[in-house]
Amino acid sequence: MSKYQKLFDKLFNQYGKQDWWPADNYDEIIIGAILTQNTAWTNVEKAIRNLKTANKCDLKSLSNTTENTIAGLIKPSGYFNVKAKRLKTTAKSLVNYNYQEYDIDENRNYLLNIKGIGPETADSILLYAMELPVFVVDSYTIRLLKRIGIQLKDYKYHTIQSDIMKKLSRDVNLFNEYHALIVNHCKFVCKAKPDCINCFLNEYCDQIEI
Ligand code: SF4
Repeated sequence: MSKYQKLFDKLFNQYGKQDWWPADNYDEIIIGAILTQNTAWTNVEKAIRNLKTANKCDLKSLSNTTENTIAGLIKPSGYFNVKAKRLKTTAKSLVNYNYQEYDIDENRNYLLNIKGIGPETADSILLYAMELPVFVVDSYTIRLLKRIGIQLKDYKYHTIQSDIMKKLSRDVNLFNEYHALIVNHCKFVCKAKPDCINCFLNEYCDQIEI
């Protein structure tokens, strides 16, 4: 069994199913993936509530709404002028885009070509909205892998992602849960200042079998 599978099993046994992504539909996942850039999820929830109240929480509406109006609605998510522009550009690019006609790499390249969408946002959309088997790496993933002692040549996005995807089965549900479990663990236990005394991983940490 791979080191990643062992870590997943421990996280899953401890925290259980995470039921991600917290959204009602495809459009809302994409909108949330952009709004969550550089901000806490609680702020995203407020911005999404405002968009819903204004009947603009979908790609079609956003593509027909001015950036100023969008910015006013998404203020709680921070960087609202930049994110309004990103939301509108993304909405226009994806509103008539049928991802089912393309393979994973083609979809990924399409997303990465949209201004304001980087690897983490693109992969979140691929995994959680399009339900394609892509592992999402974020700063929590990097932190946890380093701390528990997983050795890689570097801890850059692509290095981590390709190592994990080589060693785990390409399973949408597995990748969905895994990313969510890492976020949960690092938000509440393996924080910037880690709570190792109360961490269920402490006897494995920095010595997890590789
Ligand atoms: S023991 Fe500490 S460093 Fe290791 S995973 Fe737990 S909280 Fe993080």
